[in-house]
Amino acid sequence: MVRRVTIFGSTGSVGCNTVDLITADRDAFEVVALTGGRNVAKLARQARELNAEIAVTAHEACYQDLRAALSGSGVEVAAGSNAILEAAERPADWVMSAIVGAAGLPPGLKALEQGQTLALANKESLVTAGPLLMETARRHGATILPVDSEHSAVFQALIGEDISTVERVIITASGGAFRDWPEEKLASATLAEASAHPNWAMGQRITIDSASLFNKALELIETREYFGVDPAMIEAIVHPESLIHAMVGFRDGGIMAHLGPPDMRHAIGFALNWPTRKTLPVERLDLAALGQLTFREPDEDRYPALRLAREVMSARGLAGAIFNGSKERALDGFIEGRIGFLDMANVVDTVLAKTGAGSHMGREITLDAVLAADAEARRLAGEEMNRRQG
Ligand code: NAD
Ligand code: MG
Repeated sequence: MVRRVTIFGSTGSVGCNTVDLITADRDAFEVVALTGGRNVAKLARQARELNAEIAVTAHEACYQDLRAALSGSGVEVAAGSNAILEAAERPADWVMSAIVGAAGLPPGLKALEQGQTLALANKESLVTAGPLLMETARRHGATILPVDSEHSAVFQALIGEDISTVERVIITASGGAFRDWPEEKLASATLAEASAHPNWAMGQRITIDSASLFNKALELIETREYFGVDPAMIEAIVHPESLIHAMVGFRDGGIMAHLGPPDMRHAIGFALNWPTRKTLPVERLDLAALGQLTFREPDEDRYPALRLAREVMSARGLAGAIFNGSKERALDGFIEGRIGFLDMANVVDTVLAKTGAGSHMGREITLDAVLAADAEARRLAGEEMNRRQG
């Protein structure tokens, strides 16, 4: 049966990988909506090639350019965040959530409200609003499939298993760009240095988050929210080869590990074709040639993001939205050259402390409450960056 698909963030790193997989298996899919940002030429090319029903840019200022690029194609054109939400209401079987940041939350929720299957690359949705997302899926009979490689790995290791027999969930971290740097050098790390990942080709923001281990911090919270396991059962371990993506330990002492090349097309392709497995164009591992797999303990002094994630997991409520919002603003500050690499964690730490990890903002996780907490966290992070710049 032909699967009708929509891709939020089709012009990004995960989005383009998704488009590639669909292009390679064209007869199996019909494309409903594609959405992007300022890269109008790429969005238009994808929409023409996949014969999409509609292409949407997040920016109203890009509307005319997108319309011109798609004239005569028969593809409908729209612009703005409301247009993205409207695209989420179009009937589809499968929706990829690959917008970066908290902006990915509203369209993902809207897709779940239509009962669609949501392939979730946008980890920020679970970090900021995990209980809301899971409850919305339950209420509307929708399915959420994790696309983050670690969470796809855990999901696959759990097939046929009883979650109550799980003792530990271990997600691996490459260690990012600075894993072999001396600690003294980190404070002066540049944007270019932080934007070069040793193993994975990804968008710039998640690549910098990998270097600071904020990405792993988000993923600890994502694990807690998606699988509903006790935070004490969740471990992160540095595995520089990035070949094991996650491991699940059971109460009988057995551990199921998921291995694969560091190529997002595996996790995306698994979700795209779920519940069947199709042949995918990813490298096959030659284990003898690899020789060894290594592991080391992450250093929480060097990477305060992991400690902050533990605090967020015990605070719950709106703490995830505060954590993510302040992290996104601090990351903007680092990209703009306003603060140093290590300042990002200090800014987030200060905002969490100032808000009592969101405790003064009420506990109920509605979309409005999450958006308010996100805005407040960004505002406080901006203030803290100004103070630091003095
Ligand atoms: P990216 O920066 O390459 O692409 C982001 C996409 O979102 C683009 O299409 C962009 O136009 C769109 N976008 C950005 N801001 C927007 C806004 N405010 N409104 C609407 N659209 C907007 O990002 P990416 O690396 O592909 O990551 C996407 C998501 O997937 C992130 O949540 C990331 O954490 C997660 N993820 C990515 C990878 C990876 O390999 N890149 C792996 C695991 C998880
Ligand atoms: Mg990941």
